[in-house]
Amino acid sequence: MGKRWVIKLGSGLLTRKNGSVDRARIRDIIDQVAVLRRKGHEVVLVTSGAIAAGMTTMGLKKRPSEARELQACATVGQPELMAEYRRHLGRHKLLGAQLLLTYWDLDSRTCIRNARATLDFLLSQKRFIPIINENDAIADEEIKVGDNDRLSAHVAVLTEADLLIILSGIPGLMTKPDGTGELIPRVKRIDERIRALAGGTTSERNVGGMVTKLLAAEIAASGKIDTFIADGRRKNVLTDLAKGKIIGTRFSLQ
Ligand code: GLU
Repeated sequence: MGKRWVIKLGSGLLTRKNGSVDRARIRDIIDQVAVLRRKGHEVVLVTSGAIAAGMTTMGLKKRPSEARELQACATVGQPELMAEYRRHLGRHKLLGAQLLLTYWDLDSRTCIRNARATLDFLLSQKRFIPIINENDAIADEEIKVGDNDRLSAHVAVLTEADLLIILSGIPGLMTKPDGTGELIPRVKRIDERIRALAGGTTSERNVGGMVTKLLAAEIAASGKIDTFIADGRRKNVLTDLAKGKIIGTRFSLQ
């Protein structure tokens, strides 16, 4: 499955029911990332959770609908999220390196070239783990990707990754649209039947649900990259994937 992996961590995975950042989850994921790095994998993390973390600190129970309020949440939450990553990476003598992107950056050849060069450099050194989020503080309707599923797929294409892994609180694509039934282990073509299985999300904490994950798999496939959708709460999910265990749903669309 190659060695360069882009791993997306969803808000629903990184936050608790009350909306606060799930520190134990970040610790667990980073411990696995450190194992992957030691084994020679190049790992790029795409993290959500800035807005959720900001909401908790600002004492908001409901996700604001106003763009400015959401942006304020992100400005408060993003540094908190990074602090948590860096704390756990530090135990493994790794450094978290933050990149915040907007859709504009992904639409500009110069920005893409620069982002790629920065990421290549960071990945060439063993001690860095690039951590990417959308630059929510300045992203409004016109210049935002909108969800980190698609952002992570763009990052996978940009970095010419070998694999995109989207971790959230669901086991993968299920045989029923409400997320129940049986897990579909492999998808080779996204047709109407598969699209019909992707319900949206209604949760306060999740953003895109399965719909944006399918879109992400299609974007990644445009760069000949397979996508895994798996449950990030599963014990050793990343290290088991590295061992070749069959987990979640694999999209091999090329
Ligand atoms: N960028 C948003 C945040 O960090 C999350 C977007 C998403 O989860 O798709 O809060």
